[in-house]
Amino acid sequence: MIRVAVTGAAGRMGRTLIEALTASEVLSLSAAFEHPQSSFIGNDAGEVAGVGKSSVVIGSDVSAMLSGFDVLIDFTIPEVTMANAEIVCAAGKNMVIGTTGFSDVQRQRLHQLSESGAIMQAANMSVGINLCHKLIAMAAQVLRDDVDIEIIEAHHRDKIDAPSGTALALGETLAQTLGRDLKQCAVYGREGRTGVRDRQTIGFETIRAGDIVGDHTVMFADEGERLEITHKASSRMTFAKGALRASAWIGEQGPGLYNMNDVLGISD
Ligand code: NAD
Repeated sequence: MIRVAVTGAAGRMGRTLIEALTASEVLSLSAAFEHPQSSFIGNDAGEVAGVGKSSVVIGSDVSAMLSGFDVLIDFTIPEVTMANAEIVCAAGKNMVIGTTGFSDVQRQRLHQLSESGAIMQAANMSVGINLCHKLIAMAAQVLRDDVDIEIIEAHHRDKIDAPSGTALALGETLAQTLGRDLKQCAVYGREGRTGVRDRQTIGFETIRAGDIVGDHTVMFADEGERLEITHKASSRMTFAKGALRASAWIGEQGPGLYNMNDVLGISD
């Protein structure tokens, strides 16, 4: 069995990951971490996740448990993930990162760290979204600069970053396909007297409401018709399954920074 540690164990994704691990035949939960001030420290990780006793007690010190896991799954916040990546990669272990909202500097550092440990990082681990990247690249290749492109995303009211990492990643795929620089062409929300739309821009609209797990639509709009490619996640289990698939896969890889396409075997 591949031994997996989950950090952010009491969070929405942490609990779902622990539930998914309980059902796995190749991966087993061997450690769980939370914020040092969390009231869940010392509790059984399985019980916190609502799947019964796991005999794994939630702790807070990743470095003290390095010999207790093969891969760390991290769905927390960028600062925590970066600190964990320093520890895990220095020990030559593997990491699966689902956290979103990294700065360019943090991304660069992850790249450097992946020279000593294997890191799989994806803003969205669902198979459907990763297929979506392929589909929108195909659409952009055909439609080129003749359409207005908008990315609309919706998430639950507790999400703390916007636009979603997935929306930004979809934007990157489009910008790369069209030979544009996303930093130059992205427009985030609109208000007031905006003037007419520039066709070279890629628009982002964000909805935060209720318990929406994650919806993304890429719209290609021309005069007379529009094409919309939509993905809707209805359960966090889809992300957890992707993270588990990556955790089983990454043990076979050498150091490097990988994405979900690599895991799924659909890289270009
Ligand atoms: P959440 O707030 O429910 O959970 C985050 C958890 O991290 C919390 O329990 C928090 O206490 C814990 N945490 C904070 N500091 C910590 C520390 N120092 N050590 C250990 N744990 C710590 O959030 P969530 O909805 O589970 O999402 C977490 C992240 O995953 C976000 O960035 C979100 O955007 C991202 N996400 C990614 C995917 C994907 O497929 N890649 C899917 C869903 C969510």
